[in-house]
Amino acid sequence: MTIDFRALAPEGVQALMPYQPGKPIEELARELNLDPASIVKLASNENPLGPSELALAAARDALADLCRYPDGNGFSLKQKLSQRLSVKPEQITLGNGSNDVLELVVRGFAGPGAEVIYSRYAFAVYPLATLAAGATCVEVADRDWGHDLDAMAAAVTERTRLIFVANPNNPTGTVHGAEALQRFLDQVPERVLVVLDEAYCEYLSADDGFPDGVALLARYPNLIVTRTFSKAWGLAALRVGYSISSPVIADILNRVRQPFNVDSIALAAATAVLDDEAYLEQARKVNSAGLQQLQTGFDALGLPYIPSAGNFVAVEVGEQAAAIYQQLLAKGVIVRPVAGYGMTRHLRVSVGLPAENQRFLDALAEVLAEGAGH
Ligand SMILES: *Cc1c(COP(=O)(O)O)cnc(C)c1O
Repeated sequence: MTIDFRALAPEGVQALMPYQPGKPIEELARELNLDPASIVKLASNENPLGPSELALAAARDALADLCRYPDGNGFSLKQKLSQRLSVKPEQITLGNGSNDVLELVVRGFAGPGAEVIYSRYAFAVYPLATLAAGATCVEVADRDWGHDLDAMAAAVTERTRLIFVANPNNPTGTVHGAEALQRFLDQVPERVLVVLDEAYCEYLSADDGFPDGVALLARYPNLIVTRTFSKAWGLAALRVGYSISSPVIADILNRVRQPFNVDSIALAAATAVLDDEAYLEQARKVNSAGLQQLQTGFDALGLPYIPSAGNFVAVEVGEQAAAIYQQLLAKGVIVRPVAGYGMTRHLRVSVGLPAENQRFLDALAEVLAEGAGH
């Protein structure tokens, strides 16, 4: 008899399903023998503008020091962020993408026996990180595709250590206003940590009544706000994210962090891009116009969608969603199936440039006209 090595892994690890990323352009090009330049990828909520010139220049400069370890404390980036956000550098924890920070939080605070609460249809990394740490997943039913914050607060038990709230949420694009969020935070006992995942916050405006998690930190010491350079800041390939929390919480995260979890090129580019306010402004403009374009297109096709506050939208194409996804691939258009989230009738589409959005809408119209599933 040979040994079943799977059985040697902790139970949580055995139970977890690997994260399914959007299909890479190169992979589809290989499979269908297509020119990569002809493929439109609207599958990973990437910034369609391409990287900021300031970030690119800084990344190139950083190449000269490839033989050196990065600054494990990320001094310059933390300085810049702390000024921008009016927090102390000791409140910031940098990560290899905010994904890394989400894992640090679970590893730092929730081991076996601890319960971690998150919503149905929330970001896939929450259960993954929870299971990997040996903690217990508590999934709370959604309300109209969004988080049911009252039900999440009511799910707190003696064993609850952490609650994940994505605002806006991915893959649904749902968002909570400042008032609803504060009501929720008021209900959660202080001994329970709340991770407010603000990966898409740069697309929101406080003028529209959306909360700024960082401003809530003074009032809620159990709050951990996470943000990223992957989305609106356009640096997904470099993997830089961060959290803002009390220094005590940051100290715990720092203990479970790899000493060099963010590389020098990423640090340099992220530090530089914070000066590119024009890039961010452009990203916001392109995104709101693109969301409008997609939603108008769905209306014309008679397809329902979940109104989104992010840089993507979940459109309801019906029970043939998997087949429609495949037929879009055959036309060189990559979107994101979300059946893994239990959303079997939807596809998630990231906002692209106007021509990319149009290419997708045209391809979708053709697929629907051809009759999906053949
Ligand atoms: C994209 C995303 C992240 C993290 O992305 P990183 O590239 O790891 O920073 C975190 N949370 C949500 C909800 C996301 O959609």
